[in-house]
Amino acid sequence: MNIERDLAITLRVTPFSDTSSVLTWFSARHGRMATLAKGAQRRRSIFLGQADLFYTCEILYYPGRDRRRLAILKECTPMKTRIYLRNDWRAMLCASYATLLILRTCPGLAPHPSLFRLLDALLDGLANGINRRSLIFWFELRVLSEMGLTPNLSNCTRCGNTIKATAGQPLFSASAGGLVCVACRSRPIPDGLPVQPGVLALLLHWQNTLEPSRAGRAVARLAQVGPLEKLIGGFLRHHLDALYPGRGLALRYADRTADWT
Ligand SMILES: [Zn+2]
Repeated sequence: MNIERDLAITLRVTPFSDTSSVLTWFSARHGRMATLAKGAQRRRSIFLGQADLFYTCEILYYPGRDRRRLAILKECTPMKTRIYLRNDWRAMLCASYATLLILRTCPGLAPHPSLFRLLDALLDGLANGINRRSLIFWFELRVLSEMGLTPNLSNCTRCGNTIKATAGQPLFSASAGGLVCVACRSRPIPDGLPVQPGVLALLLHWQNTLEPSRAGRAVARLAQVGPLEKLIGGFLRHHLDALYPGRGLALRYADRTADWT
């Protein structure tokens, strides 16, 4: 049987039988996948300390014979252990939500190297003192883009005119796929939400930014957090059916602020 080598981030660790574990990964070359780590729960296991949640590891494994069979993990070498997450519950909340989003929305064994790099960059960014709420919004918008679901924030989704060229405050509609200009608002938009210019500027900045450090330079004022949470959340629910309880907690407690502690 051919052995495979890959870089992978640990998304989930589940006990399997009395002695083994199933590790669910998001890997650079194969996307979301699971491997059986035989004997991982034994005291002298070769996997002891080699894999845990949010690690990036180099893994060697034997693929399953078909899609129903688990791959067998042979070796695992941690490249990034992200030890800071063990001491920072705010960062841990953000990492848990981000990995859940990937776990639930990415189909199994569908390669997506740029999404792997995105998750890896986010987990690194959470350690670097960057505004974490900005990182979460950035991550969500980038995940949508990577999946071909970029909200249209430049043109009206109905008439195609550039929003800059239209007067008044546009609406954001998840079902329309982005903004709707004032002139097109005469036809009802049931899920339309008004977008303040400052909120739109933040959305555009995060959508067009690839680096977490740049994403973190744009920080939402407290009054902008609610609208952003609603706009992006509505889009995630409508297009990916992905809105999880952990999201609200992560956004609320991501950063230490005067109002939310
Ligand atoms: Zn229009």
